[in-house]
Amino acid sequence: MNTDALTPRALILAQARRFEAAGIPDPLTDAAALLAHVTGKHALSLRLDTDSRLSAAALHEYETLCRRRLDREPLQWILGTQSFMGYDFEVCMDVLIPRPETELLAEHAIARLQDLPAPRVLDLCCGSGCIAVSVALALPGAPVTGSDLSAEALAVAARNAMRLGAQVRFVRSDLFTDIDSGPFDLIVSNPPYIPSAVCETLQEEVRREPMMALDGGPDGLYFYRRIAKEAPSHLTSGGRLLMETGHDQHAAVAALLAENGFREIHPLYDYAGIPRITEAVC
Ligand code: GLN
Repeated sequence: MNTDALTPRALILAQARRFEAAGIPDPLTDAAALLAHVTGKHALSLRLDTDSRLSAAALHEYETLCRRRLDREPLQWILGTQSFMGYDFEVCMDVLIPRPETELLAEHAIARLQDLPAPRVLDLCCGSGCIAVSVALALPGAPVTGSDLSAEALAVAARNAMRLGAQVRFVRSDLFTDIDSGPFDLIVSNPPYIPSAVCETLQEEVRREPMMALDGGPDGLYFYRRIAKEAPSHLTSGGRLLMETGHDQHAAVAALLAENGFREIHPLYDYAGIPRITEAVC
């Protein structure tokens, strides 16, 4: 047997070729991340390792995980976590996997609250809890509430808060229906915003994620419409609303906010110059 084929580097390259042939978007990254998960070693050093050999048990486990990925299971479900704002969040089929671009939303929320004593914060549609937990960890004195319609998502969010040591109150609510605390100094939200028809065309991995976290109704604006209307009665005067918006939705969301009396409505851009967030003051 050619044992050179069992070095981490050779294994990763072989798996990456299988992934690539199956149309998996980032074959090399995924092949290395899965081996890192199995061995507890760093992905980059494994990619360069032409010396060590893997045990039979490790090889078997790697093969099992790679088969799941070949079946287009999202990488983060297999790993069980996704990093967000420097913290590892548990993820599973009950929550949307936190996206890197949403870190911008958490960063802006934290920046806006930095100088307020004990600001009250609500994260609507909190999913895994990544925004609520990151805000609570950055602002330990702030009462933070996270809400979601999905009881399963709230269970994941509560585990994330507990494991990361964040104080967050979680409430099951259809947007504001069961929100009884407040008024809030800031409401932050990454609601579902993908138009229903587009949901069917998404990448295979994304289509496995909970549709209720992605589907924003026929025009993608269903949740913004409701939030724009209902948020003012849950915000302090001068309170802020920060919402992630789809790449082409800022103008439509801004119009909804203006109709409902918000002021200082403006987009915040990501590093690629895309308007990612719509901000407004009540
Ligand atoms: N940005 C997410 C995606 O690309 C969508 C998140 C949402 O609907 N809030 O799939």
